[in-house]
Amino acid sequence: MKKDVIVVGAGCIGLMSAYCLQKSGRSVTVIDKNDITNGTSFGNAGLLSAFKKAPLSAPGAIPDTIKLMLKGESPASVHPTLDLHLYKWLLKFAASSNQDRLKRTLALFERYGQISLDMYESMVKEDGMDFHFCKDGLLMIYTEQKTFDAKAAHCEDPQAYEILSKERTKEYMPILNDKVIGSILLKENGHIDSGEFMLELKKYLQEKGVEFLLNEEVNKLEFQGSKVSKIHTSKGSYEAETFVLSTGADDTLAKQAKNKFMMTPAKGYSITFKMDDALKPKTSSLFADLFIAMTPRRNTVRMTSKLELGTTNPDVVRKQIDSIHKNLGMYTNAFEMREQIEWTGFRPLTPNDIPILGFDENYNNLVHATGLGWLGITFAPAIGKIISDVITIDKRNETNVDVLLFSAFFQG
Ligand SMILES: Cc1cc2nc3c(=O)[nH]c(=O)nc-3n(C[C@H](O)[C@H](O)[C@H](O)COP(=O)(O)OP(=O)(O)OC[C@H]3O[C@@H](n4cnc5c(N)ncnc54)[C@H](O)[C@@H]3O)c2cc1C
Repeated sequence: MKKDVIVVGAGCIGLMSAYCLQKSGRSVTVIDKNDITNGTSFGNAGLLSAFKKAPLSAPGAIPDTIKLMLKGESPASVHPTLDLHLYKWLLKFAASSNQDRLKRTLALFERYGQISLDMYESMVKEDGMDFHFCKDGLLMIYTEQKTFDAKAAHCEDPQAYEILSKERTKEYMPILNDKVIGSILLKENGHIDSGEFMLELKKYLQEKGVEFLLNEEVNKLEFQGSKVSKIHTSKGSYEAETFVLSTGADDTLAKQAKNKFMMTPAKGYSITFKMDDALKPKTSSLFADLFIAMTPRRNTVRMTSKLELGTTNPDVVRKQIDSIHKNLGMYTNAFEMREQIEWTGFRPLTPNDIPILGFDENYNNLVHATGLGWLGITFAPAIGKIISDVITIDKRNETNVDVLLFSAFFQG
């Protein structure tokens, strides 16, 4: 029997698309090659960081990274590869890192960050989900006087910022040593436990009748004229009115539909551990000069770092884990990290932080929802809403204002 909407890929973007489509009265089937308990949407830091936070493609990103590379502290690296696509991506990234784009990107981040925060809040209050949703700000910790002063010079709005001395910073993050300069609390941001979020959302969707086909890989899209007529999986074949591709950094299926998106997998690491309650960070924190995030969770703390381009190897590489510990260790006193769990995942990264959203340009029942890079959790609810709206209300990209504003199809 022909299905209504099939969502391929059950990361946070696929699940939030299913959530909004279900609320709009559509019948939804979600297919994933895994069981959704260990993917990129599961092991990330869970920061909701849309406010007052520069995009990755900010002016100065490249010289700053080179400086850190020379000091041996760089969180970013590019593996040598023959893949020309990566070099094109890097050129586009360099071209996107300019002031004009920065202004527009920051405004878009706030627009879709606010929609997402409101939706997270309503999922907790109205739908009864519990995923440790905290709206208590993001603490940007500075280890370089120059970057601290440069940021502090633009923090006039007391509703949005609080500038903290070294001592006050240590109250938020008791493990810090005296080498830390100070911090700025970006008050409008928050955090969730991304693992709990994925499990709660899946449970909610199942209760609402969304069908889940897990551990089933979609291998092939079949086309007929201007439509996807069928998909073939490791277990069978399915027809549907509409197909959503939310396969994260894996663009194999998008390529079958003749797309070569300007997107690259960016490998990152997380280390989840237990520590003494008295030493736990009081809110989610980001070492701004080191690209290390630390998020307090109910019983653990999660630390994330690294951005590796040019690799699709999912293995935990010891050298990278050691480098995260070394970088953090320069600015913290010794403390015990118990029961450490090391993990890697791949951000679906576009060169200008703008996602790939909306109907395919060749097949009119195929919708793309990917390219959320390092901000998928931050924007997942808003993206789910955009995907549902474009399918159920607008029915084409050109009449959906959010696709026009926030999709690489129009803002590439
Ligand atoms: C170290 C790290 C830290 C991060 N921290 C944050 C943070 O603090 N805040 C934030 O907002 N974001 C963060 N992110 C980014 C965020 O995790 C991603 O943007 C987000 O998870 C992407 O979600 P997605 O649904 O697009 O992709 P994914 O979560 O990768 O989901 C895609 C799904 O598609 C499935 N799939 C792929 N191909 C097929 C196929 N052929 N058939 C069936 N299924 C398929 C996969 O199994 C997977 O489950 C972080 C990422 C990393 C790596």
